[in-house]
Amino acid sequence: MAEWYGYTGRIARVNLSDSRVSIEDAKMEYIDLVLGGIGLASLILFMEVDPRIDAFDPSNKLVFSVGPLTGTMVPGSSRTTIASRSPLTLGWGESHLGGFWGTELKKAGFDAIIIEGKADTPTYLYVEDGRIELRDASRIWGLKTSNVEKSIISELGDPEIKVACIGPAGERLVRYASIISGERVAGRTGLGAVMGSKKLKAIAVRGLLQIRIRWPDKLRSMISRLYPSIMSFPTSQILSSYGTNGEMESFYQYGDVPIRNFTLGEWDGIHKIEGQYMVENYLKRHRACFGCPVGCWKEARVEDPRYGLIEGRMPEYESAASLGSLLLNSDPVSLIYMEKLCNEYGFDVISSGVTIAWAIECFTKGLITVEDTGGLQLRWGDPELIVNLLEMIGERRGFGYILGEGCRLASRIIGRGSEKYAMHVKGLEVPMHDPRAFKGMGLQYATSNRGACHLQGLVMRIEQGERMPDLKIYRRFYRFEIEGKGWLVATMQDWHHVIESLGLCKFVQIPPGHIAGFYLLVTGIEKRLPELQKCGERISNIQRIFNIIAGVTSGDDTLPDRFLSEPVVEGGAKGEIVELKPMLKEYYKVRGWDERGIPTREKLDDLSILGIIESRLDSLEIDIWGYKQSIRS
Ligand code: SF4
Repeated sequence: MAEWYGYTGRIARVNLSDSRVSIEDAKMEYIDLVLGGIGLASLILFMEVDPRIDAFDPSNKLVFSVGPLTGTMVPGSSRTTIASRSPLTLGWGESHLGGFWGTELKKAGFDAIIIEGKADTPTYLYVEDGRIELRDASRIWGLKTSNVEKSIISELGDPEIKVACIGPAGERLVRYASIISGERVAGRTGLGAVMGSKKLKAIAVRGLLQIRIRWPDKLRSMISRLYPSIMSFPTSQILSSYGTNGEMESFYQYGDVPIRNFTLGEWDGIHKIEGQYMVENYLKRHRACFGCPVGCWKEARVEDPRYGLIEGRMPEYESAASLGSLLLNSDPVSLIYMEKLCNEYGFDVISSGVTIAWAIECFTKGLITVEDTGGLQLRWGDPELIVNLLEMIGERRGFGYILGEGCRLASRIIGRGSEKYAMHVKGLEVPMHDPRAFKGMGLQYATSNRGACHLQGLVMRIEQGERMPDLKIYRRFYRFEIEGKGWLVATMQDWHHVIESLGLCKFVQIPPGHIAGFYLLVTGIEKRLPELQKCGERISNIQRIFNIIAGVTSGDDTLPDRFLSEPVVEGGAKGEIVELKPMLKEYYKVRGWDERGIPTREKLDDLSILGIIESRLDSLEIDIWGYKQSIRS
């Protein structure tokens, strides 16, 4: 048996249909190929879930996994990955959680928990020091997320327990329902709804086991040498002072902040919703996830006659833009309340904001009427309307039922040409960065396996002037140029898979070469940077093939028409569109994929995963290269 450091070497499997719990040894050959975190989750799902099933089918599985660095003293090592077939993208789904839950899972003795089947009655799991217990959740079914956490902690009698749970939105299968732990959120791709479909309300964890580190003294000394440089990055200081929303002003200058469903480039209301204003007026305290020197997490406190006392997470940039500028809402207090509502009901701020923006634009164009909305007049810049719609989504009430489907499916239900205004890629609503301002982001959105994703690559950081010599990013990549963006996006996507496989937060900036050093000192396994990068590339390819089997094809590697054909009318990206085709062509070539965007056998062989892929395709009786059988069957 392998001796594990960093990793626990143990994976738990919980079958909710028959209440069976089993503990398995992690396979070193898998870890060697794809590391932990998102890599391990990707391989498990690829091997065990038929991507063609419905996301709410009991045979779908949900994987919670941590990386080898999660819970160690490495800065920013707080992250947990959650992955499954997504009810929103109808293909690959993943989301990531900060806070303290992942560290606790590692200390409880597990690298991952695989959830299978479906419980007959509401259930929650209690994981403690190598044991897992299924418990009755009838009493907490229906509760909002903060009350779920309080209730479980009080029932189990230990304030140190960490809870990841769903709210009413997950129970009601809102397709972008999130999973919440503390005030941290795994928001994207609707994995809270997968939990809800399995009648799994929460997973509570408590661990007192020691996380084994191969060379702790050397690790400590490397961290103390690196620490000052992490905080010297200008972005670290902004994040530390104002949170992610501290960057709104500079994003606005680039023409990056979406305004009125991506139709405007300038808006006076921006100054009331940016991080500096919010922190100066409503900050309760600064907070940080486990082991984080940056601390981008802010808590707000404000009293307002409309909402009473609100205490909770300060809106991050994505919330402030998706429920603010995107909808022409410049009321900062309403944004704090909306953030709270989304987290209490448990659904994604980006997807809800973009779906509401779609509805308002369609209403103003006469494509949606009061017949559809149940009498509601939809208009821009109306915070009370937005609050009302968010509550309707959380309760799946009236027009909120359709909005809870996400903008792609909602626009298909409504029809009448409304599809044109649904801003999504592969069903995932577009995040709050206009790709006409950073064209590499356009390619990143078009090709990310989970759909429009701003985090898997964060290419706009490079397009703002950052260089990463460790990854051979030596030259400046201008934001409007398209040359070389195929290579850049592929490189950054692979690298971000590595970060997420190790359990690190990407907002804590650590040079890649140092991360390879941390991996060695924590696990005792030597993997030089090119080998780590190859792990990231394997993950990209495994998820890609999962999607191909699910019926997601190269035709889905695209962007909403607005980005491709409507030049920005004003502001920092005036006159720009995204020239996607040439970038996509370069991207496929760099990736070693054919013109249909299918990874070639040669590429998979080069990555040493051809055998795994072929044997899985054989077991599913699918031939992705010859199309002998329809992949949509
Ligand atoms: S930078 Fe922010 S999200 Fe990342 S670990 Fe620190 S507090 Fe958490």
